[in-house]
Amino acid sequence: MKALQYRRVGHAPEVVEVPVPEPGPGQVLLKVTAAGLCHSDLAVMGWPGEQFPYALPMTLGHEGVGSVAAVGAGVTAVTEGEAVAVYGPWGCGRCPQCAEGKENCCPYAAGLGILPPGLGWPGALAEYVLVDSPRHLVPLNGVDPVQAAPLTDAGLTPHHAIRRSLPKLLPGSTAVVIGVGGLGHLAVQLLRVLTPARVVAVDMSKEKLELAGKVGAHETLFSDGEAAARIRELTGGTGAQVVLDFVGAEATLAVAAASVAVAGDVTVVGLGGGTLAVGFGSGLPFEVSASFPYWGSRTELMEVLELARQGAVSAHVETFTLEQAPKAYERLHAGDINGRAVVLPHA
Ligand code: NAD
Ligand code: ZN
Repeated sequence: MKALQYRRVGHAPEVVEVPVPEPGPGQVLLKVTAAGLCHSDLAVMGWPGEQFPYALPMTLGHEGVGSVAAVGAGVTAVTEGEAVAVYGPWGCGRCPQCAEGKENCCPYAAGLGILPPGLGWPGALAEYVLVDSPRHLVPLNGVDPVQAAPLTDAGLTPHHAIRRSLPKLLPGSTAVVIGVGGLGHLAVQLLRVLTPARVVAVDMSKEKLELAGKVGAHETLFSDGEAAARIRELTGGTGAQVVLDFVGAEATLAVAAASVAVAGDVTVVGLGGGTLAVGFGSGLPFEVSASFPYWGSRTELMEVLELARQGAVSAHVETFTLEQAPKAYERLHAGDINGRAVVLPHA
């Protein structure tokens, strides 16, 4: 089968021929229908060799959707042909966090060498992907696979990030979304459907701000030296109750710190390499809570898919073949993908 692999540190990923994996006991083989491209893949492919944590070559793709092609011995929970989404942040499956579906917070996964597909385990940017357990599969129940693929990360991650702040997103509250790309444009929609808050989107790109407005942002602002002051102005001086930073660079964290309200939340989702100072003397207003969430829980993925089923959220996608995937990553790197790039490996 064809697979898109990151093979050498610092080199672009390549489409190569690899054997179709065979499902062992308890495993499930999926024929991939759609797989999303995430900016995190670019971060991973930017890491220097001495820091690179995974074995190479590595098949990319941590946003995967497929149909069950074959099951290993003992698997009865899924049937052949069933359309499913892959829950990516695999945990040990036995600890209290995993029992609650919060496998993204499993404290044992790393020590046990359990890695997400596309981030260590062979990923979904291939014709087939092997899934370690049917526990990691969520039925699509009618959601379009091209829509569902981005929802497994670009939808799930903002959903998890927003959920922690729901008690602060009341009528009259303001939520700021910095970076309206793959994750951010879904964050805007999730905020609109889950909360009565006013949503302010911040980006550097006119096209992305236009998309933000189309999918429900009340206000759109250019990310520049004036952004924090504009947010203060829009909120009558108080600042925003919740700031979600999908960039995570020094410059955007400075905007987040300068625009959050007393007792607000700053949630850093982007891997932009910046750090946020927290504590007395940091300049943050009193009682601000800061967090840097990782992906989301299995139940939260079910919720995001349910919202898509209801038509309440929908990913803005551009589709590519597997051969076109390296070019699509280049365009993502250049900031030239509006919404999410989704690869159809059998197209
Ligand atoms: P993307 O490239 O689709 O979107 C990034 C957006 O940020 C673009 O619209 C871009 O124009 C905008 N942007 C860049 N610099 C900016 C600035 N200075 N001010 C305002 N906007 C700016 O990326 P994505 O796939 O949506 O991922 C977003 C971030 O989230 C990445 O850093 C990614 O690695 C990270 N991520 C984190 C998790 C997690 O679990 N924490 C999960 C997935 C992705
Ligand atoms: Zn991702």
